[in-house]
Amino acid sequence: MSGREVQADAPSIEKEEIQEAGGIIRVMPLSLANKIAAGEVVRRPASAVKELVENSLDAGASEIQVILQEAGSSLIQVVDNGCGMREEDAILCFQRHATSKIRSVEDLETIHTLGFRGEALASLASVSQIELKTGLNDSDPAFRVKIDGGELIESGPVAPTRGTSVAVRNLFFNVPARRNFLKRPQTELKHVLDVVQVLALSNPAVSFQLLHAGNELINVRGEGSGQFHTDLSNRVKSLIPVAREDELIPLDESTSYLSVRGVLGPPQGARRTRGNQFLFVNGRYVKHRYVEHAVLSAYEYLLPAGSYPFFALFLDIDPRHVDVNVHPTKAEVKFDDERGVYGMLRAVVGRSLGMSLQTPDMTRASPVKGLSLNLDPLERATPVSRAASERESDDPAPKPRNWVSEASQALYRGTQMATAVPAASTDDAAASKSGGVGEEGLLWQLHDTYILTQILSGLVIIDQQMAHERILYEQAVSCLESGFGLSQQLLFPRTIEFSASDYALLEELMPDLKKLGFDVAAFGRNSVIVRGVPADISTGDERSVLDEIVDQYRLFERVERLSGRENLARSVARRGAVRAGMKLSPGEMRSLIDQLFHCASPYVSPDGRPTIITLSGEELRERFDGK
Ligand code: ADP
Ligand code: MG
Repeated sequence: MSGREVQADAPSIEKEEIQEAGGIIRVMPLSLANKIAAGEVVRRPASAVKELVENSLDAGASEIQVILQEAGSSLIQVVDNGCGMREEDAILCFQRHATSKIRSVEDLETIHTLGFRGEALASLASVSQIELKTGLNDSDPAFRVKIDGGELIESGPVAPTRGTSVAVRNLFFNVPARRNFLKRPQTELKHVLDVVQVLALSNPAVSFQLLHAGNELINVRGEGSGQFHTDLSNRVKSLIPVAREDELIPLDESTSYLSVRGVLGPPQGARRTRGNQFLFVNGRYVKHRYVEHAVLSAYEYLLPAGSYPFFALFLDIDPRHVDVNVHPTKAEVKFDDERGVYGMLRAVVGRSLGMSLQTPDMTRASPVKGLSLNLDPLERATPVSRAASERESDDPAPKPRNWVSEASQALYRGTQMATAVPAASTDDAAASKSGGVGEEGLLWQLHDTYILTQILSGLVIIDQQMAHERILYEQAVSCLESGFGLSQQLLFPRTIEFSASDYALLEELMPDLKKLGFDVAAFGRNSVIVRGVPADISTGDERSVLDEIVDQYRLFERVERLSGRENLARSVARRGAVRAGMKLSPGEMRSLIDQLFHCASPYVSPDGRPTIITLSGEELRERFDGK
């Protein structure tokens, strides 16, 4: 190996610190300053991976490989086929504030690269043992540099190659405090996976491979169809398991201030966790609660309370209107017109969702062709100003449940009957008090599947099964929270035998099943005895309802990755609800509607499908006028 050897002979930093002199203020030795600054840029293996991969992207690489050992604590290596560096730059790049990306303050205003501070390599080099190999092409010699805790150890030419490889070994080896703060390897690895996922998502044309201890954890090819939405959808589906089955909704709009494009997950694909929301501003992944809120608010009436849709949105905006400099790790940005961005995003997302919902869905029977959702009552809710005030509060988390109920009140007001109705049953007191549907004569059941009724402004069509699922779901959720499910005793208790794995699941669910009103107990090997079932469950054969719920639970677990109480509540609702094709008496219909309007989110079934469609008088008139 040719190359000059440089002795790591730096004076001990601690010794320098206690040096006596006149004043008490000292200028820090550079190596100490670098170590301290490293703490800001590089907190854990994942942040090192982020900095290195961003450098590769800035270098125009189309293929990037990340190699880890021990979740990055012993090795993080990033290999790219980007532009590479010249010999001089290969050493200079490790100096603090050495960057090829900006030259002047003015450049800061028009940044289009991911890096610009010139801090990453200097920081990394001060807290690890780095080996850099970089070359410009396949004919000229490449160059290799070794640095150990900030000290240059070795440098010299090596065989030609195009691109750059940076190997970071033993991260924080000389900062034990930080090294000790690393979390368990699984946790650190999870962070790395998140980082690579985000970078791969925002660069669909680039190929990424991630190897950990020789295992390939990510491998996505940049096929580059050239069509943005196709590339992005493919990338989303290969990276994000929960979005794999979803029909993603494309979005593409621009104004003079801002352009937005990306894909939205369909409402029925929403999950209980927020994890799958990706926002990029000028190519940079950012967390921006306020803007995320704008997107969610556009979904609001389409989602069950507390569930979150998938989205990957790319905002492009003149860099002069956005400050990316507010946070050292650049995860936060600030727009000069935050409200404007909010309003535009909410409108654009709402429009794309509306368009996709109005496209007839051939997989589901549609009662009347060409019906569109009447969104009017929901437009009247004002989440923009709510959100603005929430932003100031300590807990900026949006509260979809509240808006939904606000919106539901808006529609609830709209459902006030055209005719006053005399109270006919005990339910009616509540119904007329809050403006529910009243007169039996005005309820119709179409095809034993849909309930039709009139409201002041037009016609309402309710899907009986979806509506009942919503009711049972909310009841189940509240029983699980309060633990007061009413039980209806069976005349003939029944024993059911389960497979070993279903039985294990059942044992786990047993306390929650009791809360729901199931009277169940273990009954010998893999069997249970059922003495009672929840009072509200109305299937044909209530004795089989428990095994049906277990089956449904398994199905939701497999298909929708639901778990725990959410799954249980959904399963109970699905198995307990009246089906399409079941004849309902007028009293049953009335009670269904009244209960529906007492739900927190009456407009959507637990899986996000609409329960109600309204057809306004205006719309009817338009259709008759032959428009
Ligand atoms: P920044 O990215 O903020 O400029 P870094 O410390 O990350 O700062 O990198 C310093 C410089 O090293 C970059 O500006 C770039 O010129 C060069 N560099 C780093 N990584 C690569 C790479 N993978 N390929 C080509 N050049 C690189
Ligand atoms: Mg960088």
